[in-house]
Amino acid sequence: MEKKTILVVEDEVVIAMDIQATLVDMGYEVPEIITSGEAAIQTALELYPDLVLMDIHLNDTVDGITAAATITEALDIPVIYLTAYADEETLRRASLTTPFGYILKPFEARELRANIEITFYKHSLEKTIKEHRQWLLAVLNSISEGVAASDPRGLIKFMNPVAETLTGWSQAEAIGRSPVEVFHFLDEVTRNLIDNPLLKSLHENHTVYLPENALLLTKHGDEIPVADSAAPIYNDRGRLEGAVMVVRDSTEQRRMEAQLEHNALHDPLTQLPNRALFLNRLQQAVDRAQRSPEFGFALMLLDLDRFKSINDTLGHLVGDQLLMAIAPRLQTQLRSIDTVARFGGDEFAVLLEDITDVAFVCRTAKRILSELRPPFLIGHHELLITASIGIVLSSIPYEQITDLLRDADIAMYRAKARGRGNYELFDTLMHGLTIELMQREYALSSAIAHDELVVHYQPIVSLVTHEVTSLEALVRWQKPDEALMYPDQFIALAEDMGLITTLDQWVIREACQQLQVWQQLGVGAWVLADDPLVRRANSTDPTPTLSIPTLSINVNLSSNHFTQKNLVETFASILQDTGLSGHHLKLEITESVFIENAKEAAAMLKQLKELNVQICLDDFGTGYSSFSYLHQFPIDIVKIDRSFVQGIGTDAGKLAIVRAMVGLCHTLGMAVTAEGIETPQQRDILQDLGCEYGQGHLFARATDGATIALKLKTANRRRAGESGGR
Ligand code: C2E
Ligand code: CA
Ligand code: CA
Repeated sequence: MEKKTILVVEDEVVIAMDIQATLVDMGYEVPEIITSGEAAIQTALELYPDLVLMDIHLNDTVDGITAAATITEALDIPVIYLTAYADEETLRRASLTTPFGYILKPFEARELRANIEITFYKHSLEKTIKEHRQWLLAVLNSISEGVAASDPRGLIKFMNPVAETLTGWSQAEAIGRSPVEVFHFLDEVTRNLIDNPLLKSLHENHTVYLPENALLLTKHGDEIPVADSAAPIYNDRGRLEGAVMVVRDSTEQRRMEAQLEHNALHDPLTQLPNRALFLNRLQQAVDRAQRSPEFGFALMLLDLDRFKSINDTLGHLVGDQLLMAIAPRLQTQLRSIDTVARFGGDEFAVLLEDITDVAFVCRTAKRILSELRPPFLIGHHELLITASIGIVLSSIPYEQITDLLRDADIAMYRAKARGRGNYELFDTLMHGLTIELMQREYALSSAIAHDELVVHYQPIVSLVTHEVTSLEALVRWQKPDEALMYPDQFIALAEDMGLITTLDQWVIREACQQLQVWQQLGVGAWVLADDPLVRRANSTDPTPTLSIPTLSINVNLSSNHFTQKNLVETFASILQDTGLSGHHLKLEITESVFIENAKEAAAMLKQLKELNVQICLDDFGTGYSSFSYLHQFPIDIVKIDRSFVQGIGTDAGKLAIVRAMVGLCHTLGMAVTAEGIETPQQRDILQDLGCEYGQGHLFARATDGATIALKLKTANRRRAGESGGR
């Protein structure tokens, strides 16, 4: 073992040398004898001895006590005083420097040795304890949780840096204070103060946890969500020494918990409540309505029309984005107490609570429908969407929410069947009607095979020559022993069922065949000019020329067609099969074709035009794209919707719009057909505006092929007679 080094500080050199000899005898090393305080400090610094034997009285300005203080403090070297003086004042001063021993001169070697050995032992013990303490402190300080401890009376004794940051209190400020002052815990919901866990664990003598929704109110007034527990501390003899508390910032944890809870109850796409949450609220509404009859609510089921075709054509990504864009529009039309949820797919549900009258519910439904009307801009697509809403009111007493949902579904189904963009209130009559509708759906799918569809034809007339230039094919459904059904009753259904393209193609084939038959029979154009209702009084119109029959056929083409890759081939084969020239076929399309699928549609139209067919833009003025789209597509004829035509005699605004439309179409080199002309006045105005063609009850209603053939034959005969007479 290495020898311990002892520094002897003694101004009386003889004594010093005596001590040195004694110490060396005992086996210690004594490198130097120091006689002044100043030198003692200096040498201690240089040699770093294991112990200093210090005389108090030195012939120096720095006395032994001052030198010892510096050496202990700065170097943690133990000091033993050797002195002849034992007066009170000296002892007091000396004890302040926490010496390890105090030996009065003269002393015995044994006494000196015992003092020295005890000092070495105590000092190394102290060092170990100190290191241990520091290590513990380092541990406490590096924990990511806040730690605070109290003494047995409950006063704060320790706080680690995290606890300081959390509370806004420094340890120095907090020590000696009650934890109630430093750690304010609130219940997030009730805002009540929570019993301080540190004190509680101390008083109740067991571990205490904070409730789940605890907040820590900081010194600066911030509120931090925290989790916390406190436990009493015992020493190794089992005596209560205080309590320790661990506080953790649980902001992130609570955010994650809230997120998990949110995810479980919300639709990930739209962030609206999901079916589960909605059904829960619906059940509460049902329960409440049972308890208090004055409470009224309404359930709406909302289904998007034709969403499937958008999804199929433009892809799920666009479909998803559309759904995301729809959600906020729905919300804008609802009050904060209402719930709107996404049930999945394109189905949404709305719960209106605290309603007193039906009118309010209907107004809300209307507002929702019109809110959805403006086009949605998704990427570079402008999408038009309508919805159908079925409504059930709590005035029908329901006990089961499944019954409510079923009836709302029935009402929604009815709304869809009425055409798009409608709402329908459920009434008990509907049960029967719905079953009928379901049967109709089934029947429609087999209507073509059962030969139940018929085509009626409505003449389109030249407003100049009064010649019938074309016949619009309009489909009807004739079920055996039932009244004739009009397109309004089944076209929307056919579109929803995905039957529309088959139906349209059947109509087109039928109409092309029909015209081909008529042409082979040699029937010509049908001139309406001699009809006094049709011909303008005192008209100076030119007499119709007896041209070769140029009669053509107009057919309606649902926009769903434009999602089909082989559209052009299909038309080419229909023309080939029926032997009809493309010149005699006009395809009527609506603006929705351009809006949903502009690029593809433009390309397809171009190819169709290569078959020599003409393109008519139907129902012009009712869509949104209107003028801006017109010039981008190869359109030959624009059909102005009858809602404009029917107002022109009485409504100056409508007249102005129609005039502008006609002017614009002409500028773009397109001809104009006015739909729904019912009065001579309307016809005259349109004629004056330079509109080329007219269609409407004034001229003729749509009738079956046989009736049309008859009229064409008559016209033919008359014409033959006229020309023969000349
Ligand atoms: P649309 O293409 O606008 O056809 C004109 C509609 O107006 C026809 O009704 C016609 O009978 C009616 N109409 C004609 N003149 C007058 C008039 O002076 N006054 C009034 N109030 N109405 C008149 P319809 O036949 O009930 O057809 C309704 C709609 O059904 C058509 O509107 C068309 O969009 C659609 N549609 C008809 N047939 C087919 C078809 O084969 N395929 C497709 N996809 N849609 C069809
Ligand atoms: Ca049409
Ligand atoms: Ca039309």
